[in-house]
Amino acid sequence: MRPFAYTKVETLAEAVNALAAAGPQARLLAGGTTLYDLMKLEIETPSAVVDVHRVADLAGFDTSGDTELVFGAGARMADVAEDGRLRRDYPALSESLWRAASQQLRNMATLGGNLLQRTRCPYFRGGEPFACNKRRPGSGCAAQEGLDRSHALFGGSEHCIAVYPGDWATALVAFDAEVDVLGPSGARSLPLSQLHREPGDTPQHEHNLEPGEIITAVRVPVTPAGRGSAYLKIRDRESYAFALVSAAVALTLDGDGRVDECRIAVGGVATRPWRVPAAEQALRGNTITEASARAAGEAAFADARPGRANAFKVELGTRTVADAVRLAGSRAVA
Ligand SMILES: Cc1cc2nc3c(=O)[nH]c(=O)nc-3n(C[C@H](O)[C@H](O)[C@H](O)COP(=O)(O)OP(=O)(O)OC[C@H]3O[C@@H](n4cnc5c(N)ncnc54)[C@H](O)[C@@H]3O)c2cc1C
Ligand code: SF4
Repeated sequence: MRPFAYTKVETLAEAVNALAAAGPQARLLAGGTTLYDLMKLEIETPSAVVDVHRVADLAGFDTSGDTELVFGAGARMADVAEDGRLRRDYPALSESLWRAASQQLRNMATLGGNLLQRTRCPYFRGGEPFACNKRRPGSGCAAQEGLDRSHALFGGSEHCIAVYPGDWATALVAFDAEVDVLGPSGARSLPLSQLHREPGDTPQHEHNLEPGEIITAVRVPVTPAGRGSAYLKIRDRESYAFALVSAAVALTLDGDGRVDECRIAVGGVATRPWRVPAAEQALRGNTITEASARAAGEAAFADARPGRANAFKVELGTRTVADAVRLAGSRAVA
C-alpha cells in the first residue's frame, strides 16, 4: 500500500472542506471494507483519505415516516437490515442487505459505501498485467476476449462490460429512491437511477457525483408496494458471494388480485442498477400465475446481450425474476 494522508472529521461541513482541501486524488473513507482492499491492491492510490465514520449526521436512519424512509449514508448495513419496520413493510430492502457480503462486513460497511463500491471484474482487480479501461483509460478491455462469465448482459459497451455488483442499489431502484448529496456547491438530490453511469467510452467515470460531493442520505418514498416485495439473489455459494443474478420486485394487487403498482429491477447482470420496465408492463393487470410470472421474467431478459460464457444468466435471470414475482405476490396486501 502506498503512503497517504489521513484526516478524521466529526461533521459534514468538515468532511466537505477536508475533501476540497485535499484535491481530486482524495477519497472519502466510510467503513473501509472496499476502499482499503483496493488500496492494498494498488488499484486505488489516493493521496489522502477523509474518514467520516464518526460523523453523527451520517449515521442515523428513520423508517417510521408517513411519506418517506430516510437512511443516513453512514448507517451500517447490519443495523438497517435488522430494522423491524423494514423487515415487515419493505422486505426487499432488508433482504438486499441481508444477502450482501458477510455479517462481519455488514457490521462495518455503510450504505453510502455500498452504493459506491467498484466493480468486481477480475481484470479490474487483477492490476497491471491486464488491460482495463476502467482502471487505466485507453488501455483496452481484457474481458472482451477473456473470461466473461461474470460480465454484463445489459448496458455494456465495446470499452467495458463490467457488472455493477451492489445489492442495495438494485433493490432501491425498484423503489424510486432518491439520493441526497452535499458538496462544495451546496446540497442537491438526484434519483438513485441517475447516480450510476453506463460505461460508454468513459468507463472510468462510474457515477454522476461532482468532485468533492458526499452522499449524505438515501430517501425511499413510502409505498404499499413495500409489503409486496422480494429480493432474490442467486450466487455461486450461499455463505457470501456477489450475485450471478438478482431480482427485486415490489408490487400491489387490486381487489381482483390483479397486479396494480409494479416495479422490477435486476442485479448482477448490468453495468448499473437495472430497472426492467418491459417486465413490469408484462405483469401489470394480470393475476400472478406460473405463466404470468414466467412471462415477466422473459420480458426482463428479452434484450439481453450475452457474451461467450454468460448466456446461462438469461435463463437463470428469467427464473429468478419469475420466482421473485411469485414471492412478492404472496406477500402483497390486496
Ligand atoms: C468479501 C466481500 C464480499 C462482498 N459481498 C458483497 C455482496 O454480496 N453484495 C454487496 O452489495 N456488496 C458486497 N461487498 C461489498 C461491501 O458491501 C462493500 O465493501 C461495503 O458496502 C462498502 O461500504 P464501506 O462503508 O466499507 O465503504 P468504503 O470502503 O469506506 O468506501 C467505498 C467507496 O465509497 C466511497 N464512499 C463511501 N461513503 C461515501 C459517501 N457517503 N459519499 C460518497 N462516497 C462515499 C468511498 O470513497 C469509496 O470509494 C462485499 C465486500 C467484500 C470484501
Ligand atoms: S470489463 Fe471493464 S472493468 Fe473489466 S477489464 Fe474491461 S474495462 Fe476493465
